[in-house]
Amino acid sequence: MTLSLTDVRLTYPDGDRRLVALADVDLHVAAGELVAVTGPSGSGKSSLLAVAGALITAESGTVTIGGVDLGALDQPARDRLRREQIGFVFQQANLLGSLTALDQLLLVAHISRVPRAVARERAQRLLDRVGLAAKAGKRPHQLSGGERQRVGVARALMGEPSLLLVDEPTSALDHDRGETVVRMLRDITHENQVATVMVTHDVQHLHLTDRVVTMHDGQLTPAQPIVTGRGAGTVAAVR
Ligand code: ADP
Ligand code: MG
Repeated sequence: MTLSLTDVRLTYPDGDRRLVALADVDLHVAAGELVAVTGPSGSGKSSLLAVAGALITAESGTVTIGGVDLGALDQPARDRLRREQIGFVFQQANLLGSLTALDQLLLVAHISRVPRAVARERAQRLLDRVGLAAKAGKRPHQLSGGERQRVGVARALMGEPSLLLVDEPTSALDHDRGETVVRMLRDITHENQVATVMVTHDVQHLHLTDRVVTMHDGQLTPAQPIVTGRGAGTVAAVR
């Protein structure tokens, strides 16, 4: 398993009590698998990604990435693992306004000390992969929301991650642009054999994923069947 969360518990301070964000969560994601995490706002979805991404440490339980137990690493080692193994895609692409699409990717490579020629070749290949080869020289304001999000996906792949963590990638997009992004994430997950966890409260694109789990009050319920009734791709009753 690329990502394994076992009995993971996380709480936040809440006045004189603690708010339980993750209650004994189990989640195992294999290489080449796109898992959607759905559930209402405040149910703990982003907290799950933060723990899986080594951004915050679980209070108890175990998180392993590529078989490595995060709890056994010190902070610098965790940071290194995050840089080397994990790509993040957020709700907004958070691109730098003054940089071209290509330079957004090259900046990441520069920070990770990837040699310039390697980085340039990789960045061009990734922009091509997300359908933006012709827009490599465009700045964010010259791109549509969907295109910006696809730059964000390409940027997340610059470090050749084994784990991709995606938070609400379609919430700012219309249906068709959202679908393009999710389809792209699925295909890249399969082609690159990356393990991908995609948080979404958008049920429209769930039929494109390999598996759906649902968060409720910090608890993860295992696979929800995706009912494909009436016509291809209809998703029913995902709660
Ligand atoms: P979701 O992404 O499903 O909306 P979150 O993981 O963001 O849920 O939040 C889960 C719960 O934890 C919510 O009740 C939220 O208010 C609370 N929470 C999230 N982050 C913090 C924080 N840094 N400090 C305190 N409470 C937080
Ligand atoms: Mg969230």
